[in-house]
Amino acid sequence: MERFKKLPPKSFSDALSVVLKDVKASSILTPIKLVCADQDRTREWHVALENGSYWGGGAPLEDSEEGALLSVAEAVQDLFAEVLWKVWPQCAIHDLGCHAYARFEAESPITSAHVDDDFAYWFCSGDDGHILGRVGHLEVTSVKQLE
Ligand SMILES: [Zn+2]
Repeated sequence: MERFKKLPPKSFSDALSVVLKDVKASSILTPIKLVCADQDRTREWHVALENGSYWGGGAPLEDSEEGALLSVAEAVQDLFAEVLWKVWPQCAIHDLGCHAYARFEAESPITSAHVDDDFAYWFCSGDDGHILGRVGHLEVTSVKQLE
């Protein structure tokens, strides 16, 4: 596992620790970590199972401070879809899968009417659409328990 020895950029590891709080709130126990795919081990970061056997999403994580959290959230979502065959996270009220967005994104359903900051939020499209919770702050009672 020599190729995975280098530590991930701080923003990705910080982002993963935030997203892992939501994984825990959903009762998913599958351990995941960051892995690097490129030869100089600096650029192509992915989210993978602890043993490195599955990687979430085809594209590397987006390397920007505001994009890192959204990118990691989406990659963990892809990984669970691939490995567990589960849509994660799911709204406990509407039984629907949610996606992470921030207000600053062009196609975001989250507007200034919902939030007044540019943090990342999980959004459920049930009924007229609502925010399930801030990424990293999902409540055990608002998210469907998956394992
Ligand atoms: Zn909902």
